[in-house]
Amino acid sequence: MNISPELFDQDSDLSDYTAFSHGLYIGGKWRPSSDGRVIEVADPSTGAVIAAVPDATLADAATAVEAAAGAATSWRETPPRRRSEILRRCFELMTERAETLAVLISLENGKALRDARGEVAYAAEFFRWNAEEAVRITGEFGLAPSGANRIVVDYQPIGICVLITPWNFPAAMATRKIAPALAAGCTVILKPASETPLTAYALAALYEEAGVPPGVINVVTTSNPGPVTAAMLADARVRKLSFTGSTGVGRVLLAEAAKHVISCSMELGGNAPFIVFDDADLDAALDGAMIAKMRNAGEACTAANRFYVQAGIHDAFADGLRKRMAALKMGAGTDSETECGPMITRKAVGKIDRLVQDAVARGATILCGGEVPVEKGYFYPPTVLTDVPPDAAMAHEEIFGPVAPISRFEDEAEVIARANDTEYGLAAYIYTRDLAKGMRVASKIESGMIALNRGLMSDPAAPFGGVKQSGLGREGGQKHGITEFMEAKYIAVTI
Ligand code: NAP
Repeated sequence: MNISPELFDQDSDLSDYTAFSHGLYIGGKWRPSSDGRVIEVADPSTGAVIAAVPDATLADAATAVEAAAGAATSWRETPPRRRSEILRRCFELMTERAETLAVLISLENGKALRDARGEVAYAAEFFRWNAEEAVRITGEFGLAPSGANRIVVDYQPIGICVLITPWNFPAAMATRKIAPALAAGCTVILKPASETPLTAYALAALYEEAGVPPGVINVVTTSNPGPVTAAMLADARVRKLSFTGSTGVGRVLLAEAAKHVISCSMELGGNAPFIVFDDADLDAALDGAMIAKMRNAGEACTAANRFYVQAGIHDAFADGLRKRMAALKMGAGTDSETECGPMITRKAVGKIDRLVQDAVARGATILCGGEVPVEKGYFYPPTVLTDVPPDAAMAHEEIFGPVAPISRFEDEAEVIARANDTEYGLAAYIYTRDLAKGMRVASKIESGMIALNRGLMSDPAAPFGGVKQSGLGREGGQKHGITEFMEAKYIAVTI
């Protein structure tokens, strides 16, 4: 089984992706799963099956670890400049083929093309950023306080890495891990989400073309993620687990990794507050709200999940948000007019509907949306709710959909307490014209990332990650992301 050479032609049509089954990508070869089983991939805008990928077994997982181990020594000994050049080439190829990749992401994930284009640019940037980081890995040198010896600290690749990613950013969540791991000198096995494997396999072909040697990046899809991951983690050569996904699965994986004392990076769920003070620029706050809520149709870990709006601006903000949300065009992600694509699965639509019905039963008012459309596909309309009470389930659970619940607040102390009333701590948004107040509130919000007068904070050059049950560790940023894939080795030297 091999990838069609036309796969990345700018003029290629979608059949290039969907007309054949991809193989598992192990040791630079495309192969079926050892028992021949496949996972079907659906288009969320219709529910129709568009492709099938191999369903890896425990034996395939072992083969992938073997391939990563086989490539480990030569990759860690590849000069940083050469590693950097290969990463840079990955950036260039992704940028050249951005439109084709965006269409593929829209097709299997459902997100609007404009969101998919944004994702490809963001995903490619991790390669450019880490190409630059690869040649800037420094150590430390100093005199021990006793004066007896020198302290030399050398940063070394941590070893084989298992990377597990979700469906909501099929390209970016993978490149955010692969690029720093390779820059650090590690080899990896990527397990993408079962709903969106096509992007991961398309990128694997691109990495190979960019010069990534066989075995350095391996990609396996499986419908049996628990046992397959456990089998990989049980191999003593695997030293790193980097996971992005739900907090629930993160807890399970932390327990599994603990058995083997494996280093873990965890990018987990969120419940971002979006706080608008009376003195905010209303139009800017509405622009920011649309980005923070509707990027990926709300299917983002950083998505604004709770809107807290101060009493004096509340009605104008709610009305403005209703108008903007109600005007959005729903449709298939691949339709260039679409502004709000389908959700990933029917189950996801059911969860959103449950959360909205719960809020209404507790006294919330629907300003727009709020009803599951009858058409085929997994759609949920852009929805705005007001008077959402603190005990509504959506104030505590990730909505992961195009629903904006608004609550009124009176003063700063109250909104800080309400914003922090969650087990999550990934992202938060604050709008005020008073910078001192903005910085004061930002310092008190329990969150790894804050956007102050902005609707977007993700940037490969900044440390991305959460506190509390939103995760452990950081991705991207100066040194943060790459350090997750390295160990400090201390050498005491007498000279
Ligand atoms: P998920 O259900 O936790 O799945 C994430 C990945 O874990 C998928 O590849 C999944 O495989 C795999 N998985 C599931 N059960 C597993 C197990 N027992 N052992 C090993 N792997 C397992 O999350 P999702 O629904 O795909 O993604 C949405 C969640 O991700 C949200 O909570 C969102 O906030 C979070 N997220 C966080 C960030 C961040 O940076 N903090 C970014 C994006 C998303 P299958 O697909 O085969 O089930």
